[in-house]
Amino acid sequence: MWSKWMSYPLWGRVLIGLVLGLLAGLVLHYGIGGETGPVIAETWIKPFGDAFVRLIQMLVIPLIFATIVAGVIAMGDPKKLGSLGGKAVSLYFLTTIFAVSLGMLIGNLIKPGAGVDYSSASGDAQSDVLQKLENAAQKSRSFKDQLLEIIPTNPMEALSTANVLSVIFFAVMLGIGILAAGEKAKSVSRFFEEASVVVQKLTMIVMETAPIGVFALMAWVMGTQGMGLVINLSKLALALYLACILHMLFVYGGLVRIVMGLPLKRFYGGMLDAMGVAFSTSSSNATLPVTIACVEKNLGVKPSVASSVLPLGATINMDGTAIYLGIVATFAAQALGIELTMANFFMIGFTAAMASIGTAGIPSASLFLASTVLAVFGVTEAQALLIIAFIFPFDRLLDMMRTVTNICGDAAVTTFVAKSQGDFDEEIFRSEATRITNV
Ligand code: ASP
Repeated sequence: MWSKWMSYPLWGRVLIGLVLGLLAGLVLHYGIGGETGPVIAETWIKPFGDAFVRLIQMLVIPLIFATIVAGVIAMGDPKKLGSLGGKAVSLYFLTTIFAVSLGMLIGNLIKPGAGVDYSSASGDAQSDVLQKLENAAQKSRSFKDQLLEIIPTNPMEALSTANVLSVIFFAVMLGIGILAAGEKAKSVSRFFEEASVVVQKLTMIVMETAPIGVFALMAWVMGTQGMGLVINLSKLALALYLACILHMLFVYGGLVRIVMGLPLKRFYGGMLDAMGVAFSTSSSNATLPVTIACVEKNLGVKPSVASSVLPLGATINMDGTAIYLGIVATFAAQALGIELTMANFFMIGFTAAMASIGTAGIPSASLFLASTVLAVFGVTEAQALLIIAFIFPFDRLLDMMRTVTNICGDAAVTTFVAKSQGDFDEEIFRSEATRITNV
């Protein structure tokens, strides 16, 4: 039985975990029902999901740090880094612009906010949201400050507080230093090369627990919320899922199929593990080790590119989030009866793109940034609070899909950058095998 189970590729086991988790959650919510079902989901099942999320989060900083240093060393020439970074950032930005425009377009076509009685947002949800909005406001700093903070005054602190952009910055600098030292730093250089192999192995070991983690997270979400998730916000969910699928098919599809001339089926086939983990954890940061493994092992991107471009993407590139913010803005305008002008659309697009760059890759991060986008067309704070409190209880379902889109966007851009730099193995991309199962 066990060896049969283990003979399935990992993505198959993750998918089985996902479907079984969904069914188990529905049984808990409707079969056992009442108070008991959700309580079992929350107290007895969720901890397994939390443990899985913590296990992969544990790897994020060591993985980024070791693999970026090793990646810069492997690149051999610091000049290559400049063109790599330039291409990645421009393409990340370009896909985000497509995403937010598509979000607003679909939001206008489907009209998820028309006729919604958002004033039903409960008092509890409102005070919960108010608290979270205050936290978000405290944390949001000016763009200039954020840019400065990329340079860590204390690299150890950046590592210990998991400040991804500062860790990337320090790792790149360290790699350049090691390259510059040449022969004299031979053993330091070998240390990082070997350390990166070790953390990648560790990722594979942790990923073996993914089917259980994914099962537990799905059972928890469905067990505590049931199908109410789908029904209450059905139009908003429909708009978001549709826009994300279109974006994945046409924008990433265009990039992979038309610009790069590669089969799209293989792209998504190779990303299945990461998509399953993103869907169930709703966190691009937590999914990062798996995304890196998929992109290197199944899509044929060289580690030096994958390990630097993907962490950057997980932090600044969030197309699913940009789509979502565009849709929420149209949703709010419709619910509040505000006619949007062309200038409004332009401002929403710009603010939503900026907000998606500033969103952390953790669950529900962007919902609390939505008020900044709503403010640009005159939504008052009190109205924004109502809208956010209305969406908040069901946000998980929306978050799952936008996180999947977020990580696929990172992978598509990374593959493009790798191919254009000559750091790409097409044979691996085209082959059917999934290579991330063997520990
Ligand atoms: N949960 C999303 C992510 O981690 C961010 C968001 O849109 O809330 O990618």
